[in-house]
Amino acid sequence: MSKTVNLPHDDASCGWYAALPAAQPATRLQGEQRADYAVIGAGFAGLAAARRLAEHHPEARILLVDAQRVAQGASGRNSGFVIDLPHKFALEHPDPAHKQRLLALNRAAIAQLQGLIQAHGIDCQWSHAGKYQGAVGPRGMAYLEHFEKLMKDLGEPFDWVERGALAKVLGTGHYSGAIYTPGCYLMQPAALVSGLGRSLPDNVELLEESPIQRLERDGQGGWILHGSAGRIRTARLLLGTSIFTQEFGYLRNRLLPVMTFASWTRPLTDSELQVYGGQLDWGLTPADHAGTTVRMTQDRRLIIRNTYKHVPKYGKSTSDAMRESVRSDHRKAFLARFPQLANVPFSHTWGGVYAISRNFTNFFGELEPGVFASACDNGVGAAWGTISGTLLADLAVGADSAQLRDIQAVTGMPSLNPPEPFLGLGVRSRIRLAAWNSRSEL
Ligand SMILES: Cc1cc2nc3c(=O)[nH]c(=O)nc-3n(C[C@H](O)[C@H](O)[C@H](O)COP(=O)(O)OP(=O)(O)OC[C@H]3O[C@@H](n4cnc5c(N)ncnc54)[C@H](O)[C@@H]3O)c2cc1C
Repeated sequence: MSKTVNLPHDDASCGWYAALPAAQPATRLQGEQRADYAVIGAGFAGLAAARRLAEHHPEARILLVDAQRVAQGASGRNSGFVIDLPHKFALEHPDPAHKQRLLALNRAAIAQLQGLIQAHGIDCQWSHAGKYQGAVGPRGMAYLEHFEKLMKDLGEPFDWVERGALAKVLGTGHYSGAIYTPGCYLMQPAALVSGLGRSLPDNVELLEESPIQRLERDGQGGWILHGSAGRIRTARLLLGTSIFTQEFGYLRNRLLPVMTFASWTRPLTDSELQVYGGQLDWGLTPADHAGTTVRMTQDRRLIIRNTYKHVPKYGKSTSDAMRESVRSDHRKAFLARFPQLANVPFSHTWGGVYAISRNFTNFFGELEPGVFASACDNGVGAAWGTISGTLLADLAVGADSAQLRDIQAVTGMPSLNPPEPFLGLGVRSRIRLAAWNSRSEL
């Protein structure tokens, strides 16, 4: 492939990243390098893939390359829910075995992350907090009733929480009710992924601020990865590049780049905490998925996440004006929930890009001989990226396992998108319609 690719454009606005201690200087790709395995993308998927490759082959040289610093991409920008349950659309899958496989894979990812956090002392607010799925009004309650049925079908435990009990936890009477599911974990995503990056096995070399601009076949069945100041020759290439996978010519017209946004407050003072009246360390996702996600962190910050935008240029054209308008919408959602904290400002507003597909199908597998990818987690990539990256490494080294067969059974080919301009028009009007229909839940 000779074309130069479009690169990520994550800016410095992310609160999670800003809250980290200053990073050590990056090691960049320079000169001519040879690797047994190269992994592009150091998010959940790429970090897990590189780690597992090293476990299989401690003698191999493994290069993990990212265009940015670890944690500057979506894996460090998300809302920090590590969710065990299959996402909404997968929950509606007609085959119970399909859903049980997803559940088991997500839980394996959670166990894996927990083991790494403990083994390496990664300080990332990791907590077995569970998750509330919250409804504001009748529309949300109808979604919750449907969710209750899906939980019963799945045989998973859940609790209904009514407005009064909920207000004691959340510090707001805004929600009519919620369903609490216990299997979700919460974390500080930038702290988690940067900790994973710092604790890689010795034979994984992490090269940051090293965008791969072009891939070329080496004529012997391997690949040459071209950066601006160096090149990597490798026999095996693993892509943990999410939406950017299509830039290398793979899964073209099958992935949709979507951006969603979050704002958070500075940490509440002691007196603000009293006025707030709720607890620390909880997370709520909206019953109606187009609604608002809310979190209270262990370090006293309230987070609001909502709004979706179709970003064909991966956020390159995200303007200050767009962020200001999103921030103002976030402020409305915040004040509707926490009017008692009207004097507490947001300190950061940020967006992040991820991939969805029209049929909500994840891709996992070999794209062509020697090139492997896990891409398109439909916006729930903390657990999925971790387990799919791990198993991608198994696939790349030729290992077999029941988990590998499970992930192959539940993944497939994201469906083709219609051509432009129909695609952009269709996605934008669908996002606008969902926001309008869900306005009472925002
Ligand atoms: C605001 C927000 C909230 C979210 N909330 C949640 C949540 O609570 N729970 C959850 O599970 N998911 C959530 N998500 C989704 C989740 O963040 C993603 O699904 C997940 O990060 C995907 O992980 P990944 O490793 O596949 O890809 P990414 O994290 O996108 O990593 C891809 C990496 O590839 C690198 N890259 C791309 N192109 C190149 C190149 N040419 N050269 C070198 N490097 C390259 C990028 O810099 C990036 O670091 C949220 C997303 C956002 C934006």
